[in-house]
Amino acid sequence: MAITRQQAAVLDADDELAPVRERFALPAGVIYLDGNSLGALPRHVPARLARAIEDEWGQGLIRSWNDAGWIDAARRTGARIARLIGAAADEVSVADSTSVNLFKLMVAGMRQNRGRTVLLTQHRNFPTDLYIAQSVAELLGASLRYAGPGDDALLAALDRSVGVLALSHIDYRSGRIQPMHEICAAARAVGAFTLWDLSHSAGATEVALDAAGADFAVGCGYKYLNGGPGAPAFAFAARRHHDRLRQPLSGWLGHEQPFAFAETFAPAPGIDRLQCGTPPMLSLLALESALDIFDGVDVAAIRAKSVALGEFFIRLVNNELAPFGFTVVSPRDAATRGSQVSLAHAQGFSIMQALIARGIIGDFRAPDIVRFGFAPLYVRYVDVFDAVEAAADVMRTGAWKEPRFAAPKTVT
Ligand SMILES: *Cc1c(COP(=O)(O)O)cnc(C)c1O
Repeated sequence: MAITRQQAAVLDADDELAPVRERFALPAGVIYLDGNSLGALPRHVPARLARAIEDEWGQGLIRSWNDAGWIDAARRTGARIARLIGAAADEVSVADSTSVNLFKLMVAGMRQNRGRTVLLTQHRNFPTDLYIAQSVAELLGASLRYAGPGDDALLAALDRSVGVLALSHIDYRSGRIQPMHEICAAARAVGAFTLWDLSHSAGATEVALDAAGADFAVGCGYKYLNGGPGAPAFAFAARRHHDRLRQPLSGWLGHEQPFAFAETFAPAPGIDRLQCGTPPMLSLLALESALDIFDGVDVAAIRAKSVALGEFFIRLVNNELAPFGFTVVSPRDAATRGSQVSLAHAQGFSIMQALIARGIIGDFRAPDIVRFGFAPLYVRYVDVFDAVEAAADVMRTGAWKEPRFAAPKTVT
């Protein structure tokens, strides 16, 4: 039976997270289904940034490092992200980018797991994760091993030569969730450390790093955490590793006493040793402020809505879009699907451009994947309904065939 817009509106009316959407400044006429790439702007952040610029920087000047608490912002922000990823407040720090944090923790993990010669990752992991792994392996004289797709291939590639297993919790292309508990247990059984990339998990999906026994993790601040373009990233190290953890970018803010100006590096106690240099303070304050959105919001409720939006979308796709040659490439089983649904279509690039021209913003991953991200804090069921209706219209009318929609773009 056809699903009606009225049914979508009823789901919105019953949605306990619906009021959170009001806290975002979303542009009129836009259905935003790309919060998995760049989160939306929380309404209160511009005023916070204006205060940081005009008062704290403009008036406070250097005094603001102490008086406005800039110096502790990375630790405070890490502690707030910790709740969202199942970690303790003193196990998460915010610094640098996800790529840089991958480098720090891959090197630290390999060094700490002495005598191990293999850095293990997976084919089709996010490119930056692979590129950093390639360079870490070269730098340390380790060998980089790629596990084939699927859990069995991953477990088969794990043995006692593996120092660090670096993988994404949720696959950026398909949205598949990897079984973190099982993989951590298998890694632990052979003495390998796990390093999880949570870029597509944090803020949208329940993550239980400590319960799973994860060793290390990283993730973006600008996706579901809504920290703004290029927001600093987070890095997690399980407390049991803190004393021995030596990351290679030993900058002064990771020193035990930066303002002693000692000539020799001595790491800060605890998670602060993951810091390197002076943080991009405006970006960090924007991220810290953006996290207010999560106050009083239960991660289980976020996950429940994410699942429901994905299920609703897939039902609509099966009804309305399957006849036009779209196939769902994300897992059908919601238990193993993150907060995005990816569809394959040979004309995916042009179709997505035609949708974006109508204000329906998703993205495209070569060669043929169109991604629709459902950020549960601001996407409504009616948005999902309207997006599928628009996609069906783009197909029915052939609107995607307009030559302007075939023009290549640098960022897809
Ligand atoms: C978005 C994303 C990144 C981005 O890393 P940056 O250093 O912020 O550019 C890394 N890993 C994954 C899995 C991602 O999805």
